Amino acid sequence: MHFNYLIVGTGLFGATFANLIKTHGKSCLMIEKRNHLGGNVYTEEVKGINVHRYGAHIFHTSDETVWNYVNQFAEFNDYINSPIANYKGEKYHLPFNMNTFEEMWGVKTPEEARAIIEEQRAKEGITEPKNLEEQALSLVGRDIYEKLIKGYTEKQWGRDCKDLPSFIIRRLPLRFEYNNNYFNDKYQGIPVGGYTKIIEKMLEGIEVRLNTDYKTFLETNKDITYDKVLYTGPIDEYFDYKLGQLEFRSLRFENEVLPEVDDYQGNAVMNYTEREVPYTRIIEHKHFEFNKCKGTVITREYPAAWKPGDEPYYPINDERNNKLYEEYKALAAKEENVIFGGRLGLYSYFDMDKVIAAAMEAAERS
Ligand code: FAD
Ligand code: UDP
Repeated sequence: MHFNYLIVGTGLFGATFANLIKTHGKSCLMIEKRNHLGGNVYTEEVKGINVHRYGAHIFHTSDETVWNYVNQFAEFNDYINSPIANYKGEKYHLPFNMNTFEEMWGVKTPEEARAIIEEQRAKEGITEPKNLEEQALSLVGRDIYEKLIKGYTEKQWGRDCKDLPSFIIRRLPLRFEYNNNYFNDKYQGIPVGGYTKIIEKMLEGIEVRLNTDYKTFLETNKDITYDKVLYTGPIDEYFDYKLGQLEFRSLRFENEVLPEVDDYQGNAVMNYTEREVPYTRIIEHKHFEFNKCKGTVITREYPAAWKPGDEPYYPINDERNNKLYEEYKALAAKEENVIFGGRLGLYSYFDMDKVIAAAMEAAERS
């Protein structure tokens, strides 16, 4: 058996690449170590509700090409992500906007909100933020930092905010308008029927072997040949960790089916921002699809320390890991017939649209 490509991983990167090279007339075989398709965007139906098995996934993009591409495979609803923060029972709208400021300080105008933030900012005397704490204090002042950022962030990352890079918090919009949209992108939505259906459609007519790990596959399938490999697994694993291990932050998801409860929290995402609650958020999946069925399914998301063998979720892009990644990248550049792609292959946090755009580019070059 001969293929143009062996594709390792059926996440969005692998699936987009496979789908596109097929349209270019190239053949491929896909292998996937999990027992299902889709990588981290995998959704499974539980009691008529599409459950996001690896964390809530909201599709958002300003890239028209990517938006048109994914819309071939699913209809997207008009869901807008608007999480609520719960701090010791007090509720605040996210991202930080006029609703949050009014709930926090009772202010009614953007001018009043700016004045309070300015006053709190001046008290801190930070000119050039050197870490996440300083960045947050200089963006929104101490009240919001203490109630909505500090506890959540320290749980999420397992580190003090002073020891975290400031870019993490710059992802969140700050607005002096009444607008609870968590994202600034032109397009946003959830695929009706879940993400797994998108992946299945992308991979129609393509041979996929589930429960198949790359290294084991190499040992046991010497009769299968291919011109190139697209590898979307962890880059350090590819090289048998010979330079050391790249670190991640992990998550534990605790699902609960509540057949007697039709609406648990009135919103898809509720963030628990105080340190004392061990989970960061509760997801109520039916709200992503405006599903009015009986019963509900919720997921508590617990941040967790990562050790080899655990599911890797968030790369820890600190100095040590970035340097190590650069060393692996140099090795990868010498692998002539292997393309490294996706969040694990490139050791970066990418939103779904960025992953699709990168896979489209890679397929174009193939
Ligand atoms: P993956 O989905 O990880 O796919 C890689 C695949 O390769 C996996 O299926 C894996 O099992 C397989 N694999 C790995 N090693 C091997 C091996 N050795 N052999 C065989 N198979 C292997 N993005 C958004 O745009 N919006 C969101 O709301 C959003 N929410 C997120 C929430 C969480 C908690 C997380 C962690 C991420 C979120 N993302 C979100 C990012 C999104 O998950 C990624 O952009 C996307 O899933 C990356 O796709 P990928 O193909 O690169 O990686
Ligand atoms: N964050 C926070 N409070 C919140 C939500 C987010 O402090 O209620 C911070 C936290 O540091 C987090 C970062 O903002 O890591 C990015 O948030 P996002 O919602 O983008 O995180 P993700 O969905 O990727 O976990």
